[in-house]
Order: sequence, then C-alpha cells, then structure tokens
Amino acid sequence: MEDRKIRIGIYPGSFDPITLGHLDIIERSSRLFDILIVGVLVNAAKKPLFLAEERVKMIQSVTSHIDNVRVCSFGGLLVDFAKQEHAEFIVRGLRAVTDFEYELQMAQMNRTMCPGIDTIFLTTDLRYAYLSSSVVKEVASYGGNIDRFIPVSLVPEVMSRCNPISADKKGSQEDKKNEQDRTDHQ
Ligand code: ADP
Repeated sequence: MEDRKIRIGIYPGSFDPITLGHLDIIERSSRLFDILIVGVLVNAAKKPLFLAEERVKMIQSVTSHIDNVRVCSFGGLLVDFAKQEHAEFIVRGLRAVTDFEYELQMAQMNRTMCPGIDTIFLTTDLRYAYLSSSVVKEVASYGGNIDRFIPVSLVPEVMSRCNPISADKKGSQEDKKNEQDRTDHQ
C-alpha cells in the first residue's frame, strides 16, 4: 500500500489573546489534518498586549487536550513559514462578510506566491460570531466580565493585564471572602 503523505495545516493569527472563537476553529480544524500548527504572528508593526512567547504558552495550556496540535511563533511571510513547516494548508476563520474581502485578498496573494499551499476557511460557530480579541480587551479594560469569551483558565491573566486595578480589587475581595470562610469554619 502506498504511504500516505502527512497532512499539515497552519492556523495563523495574532491570538492576542486567544478567544473561544479561535479555540473552536482549532478544535474543528485539528480533525482535518494529521498535524495542526497554531502560528502566533510576531508583528513588529503592532504593539500586542501579550508577548509572542506568552501567547504561545497561553494557547498551549488551553489546547493540551488535542494531541495533534503544536503551537509556535513566527515572523515574516506566512507562506515562508508554511514551506518551512511543510504545511500545504492554511486555516482561517470567517466571522462575517467584513472578514471576507481581506481574507480573500490574502488567500489569493498567498496562492500566487506559493501555488502549492491552499487556504481553507471555516465559518465561525454562531456563538462566537461577534467575538474578537480586541472586543475582549476592551471589555476587560473596563473591568467587565470576560468569562464567556475566553477560556476561563486565562481570565485572571488577561484581566490583570488589561485592568490591573479591577483585577487587584477582585483578588482582594476573594482573599477577604476566603478569610471570612476560614473564620466561619473555626
Ligand atoms: P489576525 O490578526 O491574523 O486576524 P486574529 O487572532 O484576530 O489574527 O485571528 C486569527 C484568525 O482567527 C483569523 O482567521 C480570524 O478571522 C479568525 N477568528 C478570529 N475570531 C474568530 C471567531 N470569533 N470565530 C472564528 N474565527 C475567528
């Protein structure tokens, strides 16, 4: 029997921070490939909230249940990164028509530069159609609840980076409550 080639896909993005919308795309696309590489873009032109290494660690921690997912950072052209990783597919998520024009342009550009690499689009799960990293950061910066938007394990880290005062207050409220619980049990 002929050996089947290993199918590798890359899901690139800023993931600053990763949201439940991103995680849904990772879970679904990991079923399409033997290996899915989540590529965290290091973009010198943007000033991210989290360093690339921090974003990589956050994504690793919330995708550890998916065996065939690898997470790493990359800079420069996506097609060069894809070639280096022997990936033939790029995965992108589509939320609304507003994403479409830019995504189509990028996919065509990448295909012109590298005809061996195809872009695959997954439509967002309707629950996350409105969700973006920027909206999460905005809500968090005003001290709003972001539990429904990002994996819960990452909430304290994102809150303390976006809104240190509110995160501190919540922390000390929790400390007080724990102290109260301890006294009640004595
Ligand atoms: P970029 O800066 O490359 O757009 P993002 O981190 O914002 O990076 O997004 C990475 C990819 O994930 C993009 O394809 C984007 O369309 C997709 N994406 C972002 N948010 C969602 C969501 N809520 N549902 C599905 N796909 C999403």
